[in-house]
Formats: sequence, C-alpha cells, structure tokens
Amino acid sequence: MRPRRILVTGGAGFLGSHLCKKLLAAGNEVICVDNYYTGNKNNILALFDNPMFEVIRHDVTFPLYVEVDQIYNLACPASPIHYQHDPVQTTKTSVHGAINMLGLAKRIGARILQASTSEVYGDPEVHPQREDYRGSVNPVGPRACYDEGKRCAETLFFDYHRQHGMEIKVARIFNTYGPKMVPYDGRVVSNFIVQALAGEELTLYGDGSQTRSFCYVDDLVEGLIRLMESPTSFTGPVNLGNPGEFTVRELAEKVLAKTGSKSTVAMRPLPEDDPRQRCPDISLARKALDWEPRVSLDEGLDRTIPYFRELLGAQSPTASQARAGGA
Ligand code: NAD
Ligand code: UDP
Repeated sequence: MRPRRILVTGGAGFLGSHLCKKLLAAGNEVICVDNYYTGNKNNILALFDNPMFEVIRHDVTFPLYVEVDQIYNLACPASPIHYQHDPVQTTKTSVHGAINMLGLAKRIGARILQASTSEVYGDPEVHPQREDYRGSVNPVGPRACYDEGKRCAETLFFDYHRQHGMEIKVARIFNTYGPKMVPYDGRVVSNFIVQALAGEELTLYGDGSQTRSFCYVDDLVEGLIRLMESPTSFTGPVNLGNPGEFTVRELAEKVLAKTGSKSTVAMRPLPEDDPRQRCPDISLARKALDWEPRVSLDEGLDRTIPYFRELLGAQSPTASQARAGGA
C-alpha cells in the first residue's frame, strides 16, 4: 500500500482507533474525525505524538471539507444501548453522515468505504448469511434506527456509485470484539468479561440459545484495509466476520472459565427483535480479498481479558481467592 492521506470518521471509537493505528503504522497520514459520542480520547492518546496523525472534533451530520485520498466512514454508535439512546440521531448519523461523506468523496475524488453491518440482515431466515440475502428487518422496531439507517447508507453508496461513478466499498461487519471496547457499552463480549472480572452476575438475555459469530478486532481491521485496497471494480457489499458460531450461553461459559470467575449466570428478558442467529458466509471475502480471520474466539478472549483486567484494576478471582487461602 503506498502512503496516502486517509480520513477515518469515528476514529476515536473501538474499531476506528485500531484502524487509525494500523494505517499510521503503514506510513499513511491519518485524519481522525469524531464527536466523541461513544468514542474516547484515551483510545487514540498513544497516536497523538505521531506528526502524521491529526484529530478533528466534528459531527458527521454536518458537512466537512478536508483533502484526502481515502475515507473510511465508521462514525456511528454500534452498541444497541448506545444507538437506541437517541435513535433519531442514530439515523441521522448513518444517513446524513453518509450523504456528507459521499459528497466530500465526490468533490475531492476520494475512494470511500462504508462500515455497514450484519444488522442489515435483521433477524435472518437464511443461515449462514450471504451477501445476496436481502434481510428481514423490522422497520418500526427499536433496532430499526440502526438497521434501516445502515441499509439506507448502503443505498446511498450504491446510488452515488451508479450516478457519479464513484469508487465505493461496502463492508458488512459482523460482531467484533477486542481491547478498547468500552466496559459498560452493553455489547455481550465486554459485558460478560467485565461482569466476570467484577464478580457480578453475567446477564444472559433470553435462554442464551441465540447465536453470534465473534471476530477479533485485528482480523477485522485487516479485512477493512484489504477491501479499501481491492480493485476499483470490487465494491462489495462483502461480509467481514468470523464464521465460528457460538450460542451466547457458550460465550458466557467460556468467559467464566477463562477469567476463573465464580460469577453466576442470571437470565434476563430477551430484548425486542434480538436476532436469533447470525453467522457470516465469507466465501466472497475469501475469494475477492484473500481474507479470512486468523484469531479463534479462545485466542481472542485470551487477548481481550487482560485489557479489561488492567482497565478495571481487577484481580483474577482465583488468584485473589488463592492468596486468601480459598479455592
Ligand atoms: P464505537 O461506538 O466504538 O465507535 C463509533 C465512533 O463513531 C465513536 O468514536 C463515536 O464517538 C463516533 N461517532 C458517533 N456518531 C458520530 C457523529 N455523528 N459524528 C462523528 N463521530 C461520531 O463503535 P465501533 O464498534 O467502533 O463501530 C464502528 C463502526 O463499525 C460503526 O459504524 C458500526 O456501525 C460498525 N460496525 C461495528 C461492529 C462491531 O461489532 N464493532 C459490527 C458491525 C458494524
Ligand atoms: N446479550 C446478552 N447479555 C448481555 C448483552 C448481550 O445475553 O449482557 C446478548 C444479546 O441479547 C444478543 C447477543 O448477546 O443476543 C449479542 O448482543 P450484542 O449487543 O453484543 O450485539 P448484537 O445483538 O447487536 O449482535
């Protein structure tokens, strides 16, 4: 990849901060745009010393004027509790944000990538999900602000591409986890790890038989960069995720075993419209991007748990019990 000037919207968030770091490490100049709605300056603090890194506090629902070669459009809250907190703003961020970033890309002739989501498939009737599956989304439910916002953003990307000949890339990202997630942002991996380390009950929604496929952040970021660097003719949409599928209960059990926690599992009501199953078919990513995840869920959890342990200043329950002469 030749060094470029690259804009990352949502660059102070979980995925965005990892992406900024990797793009800088490859010798690029990176402009991070974020309004810190769910992102955090701590995520990018270590990058501030790099003269090739610049940060702009900006809300993508307003126009932006910068000169760049590429745009990664990641700005949007991703956790259900965050995107449902102000659903109107979530739709605006997805839709107006896409219009503003596409308008910018059109004016300056930049290539632009959209961070779309497996949520465009809704509660899928097809399993695993391939890119040609059109989805089953409730347009009036509590998840619609995110799901429909992202679907509309995809529509905008493809219409700008057809109408203006723009270079677009659309990634449908499946559940991704890793260091730099916000401890109490409601996503299942961070929730379970934090609860286990704090000795709190693990909140299992429903009976825990719903499935998800969890991708480690490094794999995902590699997939995004490969997509951006792929030939102009390849637009996607392309699924990026780990095809390993686990029930949420299995995840809870893994986290308990790996943290050595004595926490119990407490069942809570299943949120409305919570998808019952989700697993990407990544044949297209394998073929078009020569990409597939390398980090298993076990390995990824082993890399993520120490991050939260340090963040929370927590001790391993088994270690502290052992010191106290317990189990
Ligand atoms: P995140 O909430 O950690 O990051 C989102 C970032 O966007 C935050 O820094 C936030 O402050 C910023 N932001 C939100 N609204 C903004 C606005 N109006 N203007 C400027 N910045 C704004 O979430 P994430 O997990 O890093 O997700 C990044 C992107 O990837 C999102 O678009 C999300 O929809 C998509 N995605 C993530 C996952 C996942 O599992 N992490 C899965 C599917 C799709
Ligand atoms: N979930 C859970 N306990 C939690 C948080 C989430 O059982 O504390 C479940 C949630 O109901 C869903 C799955 O875990 O079935 C993944 O939830 P998350 O919010 O991480 O992602 P999404 O539902 O958007 O895929």
